[in-house]
Amino acid sequence: MSSLMQCTIDLGGSGRQAGHIRLLSGGSAGGPDLLAPIVSIANGAGPTVLVCGGNHGDEYEGQIAALRLARDIEPAQVSGRIIIVPVISGAASRAHARLWPSGANFNRSFPGNPDGPPIEQLAHFFSTVLFPAADIVIDMHSAGAFGWIVPCSHMCVPKNRAQRKLMLEAMEAWNSDFHFLYTSHGNYLPNEAERQGKIVVTTELGGGNRIPVAVQELAWSGLTNVLRHVGVLEGKVATRASLGLPPATLVDCRFDDGRIGNVGSGLFDSIVAPAGGLFEVLVEPGSAVAEGEPVGRIWSPDDPTLPPVELRSPFSGYLIGLKTLPVIERGQSLALIGRLIDRDALLKEM
Ligand SMILES: [Zn+2]
Repeated sequence: MSSLMQCTIDLGGSGRQAGHIRLLSGGSAGGPDLLAPIVSIANGAGPTVLVCGGNHGDEYEGQIAALRLARDIEPAQVSGRIIIVPVISGAASRAHARLWPSGANFNRSFPGNPDGPPIEQLAHFFSTVLFPAADIVIDMHSAGAFGWIVPCSHMCVPKNRAQRKLMLEAMEAWNSDFHFLYTSHGNYLPNEAERQGKIVVTTELGGGNRIPVAVQELAWSGLTNVLRHVGVLEGKVATRASLGLPPATLVDCRFDDGRIGNVGSGLFDSIVAPAGGLFEVLVEPGSAVAEGEPVGRIWSPDDPTLPPVELRSPFSGYLIGLKTLPVIERGQSLALIGRLIDRDALLKEM
């Protein structure tokens, strides 16, 4: 355990406990950012699930679901332990910002460093204390203030096929209409949890500055159903079939050339703006798109006589996410498009 971080609750204790993770030597560099709340709800034998919200500050859907979880679940409903860090990046959350006040990205700070800046010390605490204690790690994201991604659970694809299958099944237990696969670059929170062999479930729960009721309901129903699926929370596991829903659409959004977008998460690199201007969206996220199909266009606010620049889908697949702020700059990443992938093919992939 990092000598500089302190957890004020006993992670081995039972019942509901609430406290904080804090940096002992925070000092002037510290402040409220280094007081992440933590709640443990434990009862008897069973798996340990770590539930994370607010990895990025302006992604509130998961923070609200995790806060609700911390209060609404009674220890008697639990077999095992649920550890909740509902708002990891508190200062960013309060500031409606994706990143920490230092400009650092918590989700690019793994595995962390006990001698690094506070954000790396906190990541190190996750890597050395919270992940080793957990069997399952849930990290809830959305597209943040300026984007929208079809509300869904998603995953990186681990090489270990047994782990991959367990992750796929846990991801599917969210019961969202879509799931997608993504590439990350090794220093994300889920990467480190995955390296430690955990079952990792991540989400993109919409985004923007208004949370639709249906999205918040999906955050809650998905989170609690995954907890039931892994056996830590009482109650019957719902499946899409039991809910009368068709199978979810599984979309492959991995890219293999190591690109990272110049804006936001880099997820939106499927279409990069060839010009600045005002971005008009022509296709709703969640729609199938054909290769060459116009997905959006960019109008020039400076010269109304210019025709708009058309943005076409580079291949056939599904439009999964978009930047939502119409004001865009040249070179900005605008859209996430992925190809349909067969579930069995994913499980067999070497
Ligand atoms: Zn995020």
